[in-house]
Amino acid sequence: MDDTSGPGKSLCGASKPALDAALLSAGVSEKQIKMRRQQIWSWLYAHGVAEFDAMHNVAKAVRAGLAENFTLDRLTTADAQYSDDGTRKWLFRLADGHEVETVYIPEADRGTLCISSQVGCTLACSFCHTGTQKLVRNLTATEITGQLVAARDALNDWPTGGASNTGARKITNIVMMGMGEPLYNTDNVIEALNVMSDGDGLALSRRRITLSTSGVVPDIERVGAEAGVMLAISLHAVRDNLRNELVPLNKKYPIAELLDTCRAYPGLSNARRITFEYVMLKGVNDSDADARELVRLLAGIPAKINLIPFNPWPGSPYACADRDRIEAFADIVNRAGYASPVRTPRGRDIMAACGQLKSESVKETAAARKMAELEARKLHRPIA
Ligand code: SAH
Ligand code: SF4
Repeated sequence: MDDTSGPGKSLCGASKPALDAALLSAGVSEKQIKMRRQQIWSWLYAHGVAEFDAMHNVAKAVRAGLAENFTLDRLTTADAQYSDDGTRKWLFRLADGHEVETVYIPEADRGTLCISSQVGCTLACSFCHTGTQKLVRNLTATEITGQLVAARDALNDWPTGGASNTGARKITNIVMMGMGEPLYNTDNVIEALNVMSDGDGLALSRRRITLSTSGVVPDIERVGAEAGVMLAISLHAVRDNLRNELVPLNKKYPIAELLDTCRAYPGLSNARRITFEYVMLKGVNDSDADARELVRLLAGIPAKINLIPFNPWPGSPYACADRDRIEAFADIVNRAGYASPVRTPRGRDIMAACGQLKSESVKETAAARKMAELEARKLHRPIA
């Protein structure tokens, strides 16, 4: 649970235990805590209210007690960018000055918010931009949920705002695929997922939440058992020697062990499949033999295969596989009976696509920074 004591601490994103602790410290009696928490929960997460005083059914004294030590401050929007394709990317500044990125991807039948779990990432996958940024710290559960609240604000996606009361929301899906490895921050991520999926508040269906991991084997089962969300595995290679290079965590948890853990994922069925992500790197992992081996490896696991065209970043050592190569690869996988959508890169022009996220605390070369800035500038608009 987050530490929510002390003046100025924001409760925007807080879990039930964190809210209970705040209410207790504001002088609410044990007997009344549950009732007050339910009221506040609804204001915060069903209505998006940003001031204690707007919570009409909460006694004035309780509101005042809370306001003495807490705020409902949102994450600060340090920057917002808009892609040609409608993708939006926010740079959120945390209370201690660190920054994370959050991306919104609108599609015809859904709107997906891609949320970060850490500032940077320690895992250093060789094809990932975030991996070149040294980890600054884990996000708190409040900061993880806070990204969803801030995005709903920015998109006017509360029922009292532009969104309809009938449930037509702009953000319908969540992917834990932003900066960081969610299962190196498992406690806070699970706590946040349980806030986001609570039916009396933010109410995102657990089936519409997907957590992506590079393969932190010991924590995978917990995600299914304690959060009940969908799982995605960043596989990217079918042989340990190559996966060791691309996803160095593989040295600790090799492919066979990872797949055994997947087979035991709670709730796994044909209706609830695991997504295997596979980034298409030219001449590295994109051969027909790789595709056939992928099919062989996944036999018996209810799976979807998501082929991701590699998204380049300044200084990246790879190129994206050619289009016809990706199609040939997808063909083999499809013929084996797997749905294998090729992920359309979204928001590349603002460096918002998979693996391109990275905040400022970076040791980039001046030239690389310049290139990223040039790419971003043409579509960059000031925050509304
Ligand atoms: N750390 C987690 C979640 C964040 S990454 C994980 O690794 O799963 C989200 C997805 O983007 C992962 O599948 C990751 O492997 C992929 N990715 C990273 N860099 C990429 C790049 N440059 N191009 C395409 N996909 C990339
Ligand atoms: Fe970290 Fe995931 Fe990037 Fe690997 S792909 S460096 S685990 S964010």
